[in-house]
Amino acid sequence: MIDPFMSIAGWLQQNALLPLLYRFGWMQWEELSFGWALFAAYGLFQVLVTFAVCMPLERWRPIERWPDRRAVLTDMLYTVISRVGLLPLVTFVGFYQVQVIVNGYLVDHGWVPPTIDLIVPALLGHQVLTFLIYVLILDSADYWRHRLSHRVHWWWALHSVHHAQRQMTFWSDDRNHLLDDLISALWFGAIALAIGVPPFQFPMLVLVLRFLESLSHANTRLSFGWLGERLLVSPRFHRAHHGVLAAGQRSCNYGAILPWWDMIFRTADFSREEVRTGDPEAEEALASGGYVAQQAAGLRRLLGVRSAAMLNRAA
Ligand SMILES: [Zn+2]
Ligand SMILES: [Zn+2]
Repeated sequence: MIDPFMSIAGWLQQNALLPLLYRFGWMQWEELSFGWALFAAYGLFQVLVTFAVCMPLERWRPIERWPDRRAVLTDMLYTVISRVGLLPLVTFVGFYQVQVIVNGYLVDHGWVPPTIDLIVPALLGHQVLTFLIYVLILDSADYWRHRLSHRVHWWWALHSVHHAQRQMTFWSDDRNHLLDDLISALWFGAIALAIGVPPFQFPMLVLVLRFLESLSHANTRLSFGWLGERLLVSPRFHRAHHGVLAAGQRSCNYGAILPWWDMIFRTADFSREEVRTGDPEAEEALASGGYVAQQAAGLRRLLGVRSAAMLNRAA
């Protein structure tokens, strides 16, 4: 059987990538470009699967209905750019390159590159278990990255792009500032390197995790049940994280896949129901502007520059 992903990747490489690489004399990237095309095809497939699962859920039991869904269109653009373009590039091409360089450096200096089964030899040969341990470690690291991004002033300016959306749907997961995406990639990538996630498994891992993260943003009245919600982050749990805070309320539910870190570090709140989402302090462009307007507004917020509209409002 011909693998359809391989076929799509081959087509993409032949028709789009190779002519470009020839044109600029970058033939050393030929092999990697196939890897990128393959993960772009997986990314596209993932977007389709996410759509097929989440769309009916949102239609079936929506929490909110909006007559004008233009703001959702922007999030769709974010998703396509991120899942089909950037994530395959960063997780496959970027991660692969860095791992080759780092491992080469380590070997040159007489060190053995890290892998998790070096630290825990019992894991040798247990691929599924090893994969789950990678998930556990990376998800806990992501909890702290996310929690810090709410705490550190300049970082929040970037992360607020994600929170400004008042029409939150499963498309909203990728709605991030590009600089915030860059920090996340470095953070995630550095930890994946330190624990020795193999280059091909890394993008696979990101594919699986990001599917769950999309689901957790869905505009749907979907409960995983008392226990289920404590095992895996549900749409209800993550919506509480996006909720507009009432007086005296603190941010909660930073976990992306597992709610356990929130439970351990006392930031979990399972009681908030169907809250309104958005960031009342964000300038309007951050909420309802197009892709470029949101990126620019995030940068302005980072630099502490107030737009003319905000100055007028303050005056
Ligand atoms: Zn957040
Ligand atoms: Zn979110």
